[in-house]
Amino acid sequence: MKIDGSTQIVGVFGSPIAHTASPAMHNAALAAVKLNWCYLAFHVEPQNLRSALTGIRDLNCRGVNLTVPHKILALDIVDEVDADARKLGAVNTVVVKEGKLIGFNTDGYGFARGIKEDFDMTLKGKRVLILGAGGAGRAIAIQCTLDGATKVIVANRTPAKIAPIANEIAGTPTKFEAIGLDAESIQRVVTEVDLLVNATSVGLQPADSLGLPAGVFSPGLAVYDTIYRPAETQLLRQATDAGAKVSNGLSMLLHQGAKAFEIWTGRKAPLAVMRRALRTAVYGAQL
Ligand code: NAP
Repeated sequence: MKIDGSTQIVGVFGSPIAHTASPAMHNAALAAVKLNWCYLAFHVEPQNLRSALTGIRDLNCRGVNLTVPHKILALDIVDEVDADARKLGAVNTVVVKEGKLIGFNTDGYGFARGIKEDFDMTLKGKRVLILGAGGAGRAIAIQCTLDGATKVIVANRTPAKIAPIANEIAGTPTKFEAIGLDAESIQRVVTEVDLLVNATSVGLQPADSLGLPAGVFSPGLAVYDTIYRPAETQLLRQATDAGAKVSNGLSMLLHQGAKAFEIWTGRKAPLAVMRRALRTAVYGAQL
């Protein structure tokens, strides 16, 4: 990479941020399409998000990705919010355009592309059980309705946090149900779904367990864990043992990044290059 007076800056804001694989993925992509751009990670505390975003506008940077804990906060900071990002309830990509900060959300798109790639599955006509009602759970649930899923069931430890998702889905053709995140409730509904998605943070630590019995999983079920590090969570191990189709969140990470790349650059994302760089950054070697 050659840095000179014309180098354009994009990047990611988060706290913590040192673990991020996005610079590897994006810098490989920028080099592949021969753009004189550079993608950097910035440790930004939530109380500084407003000044940091104002800063990228004033410095005429091209844009940034936002990760934990900024995605919801940014809704009230950017000048304009894309309609889908408004529905998804969070901003993960900001573009600086004609002096304005415009917020997008590419997580839902990334998820939809991820399951297409991993399971050859679209959300249209599907029944989907989502564990978790945080930022990722909400983005996935709303993407399901945008893409024509027949039914969405959301299970969460804190039931009250499901209400904003239920409100957003109400009035769409997608049926909605809220349940508890307990083995009995999940066992009751799992036989009626095509896809089970873990969008909780349970599994980030290798010993983490959602406490689901092996009987929850069956060969006809597709199980997607949004967690990609570790590559195999206990949930995915149980699902694999039961003969279910499984995949982890690396494909979602790849495709949300690819969409952000396209929003910033107007170029087609070099997916193969990005996938290779991401796998190397996350797992240390090609899997
Ligand atoms: P978040 O907004 O903080 O939400 C966390 C979710 O996890 C909530 O539903 C929370 O339930 C649940 N949870 C946390 N600890 C729990 C526990 N001990 N038992 C049961 N439930 C628990 O976080 P997020 O941004 O949605 O991220 C959630 C997961 O998605 C993370 O693992 C993250 O790595 C993953 N993710 C992946 C991608 C990707 O590209 N692959 C993108 C975004 C996120 P309560 O409401 O009860 O607290």
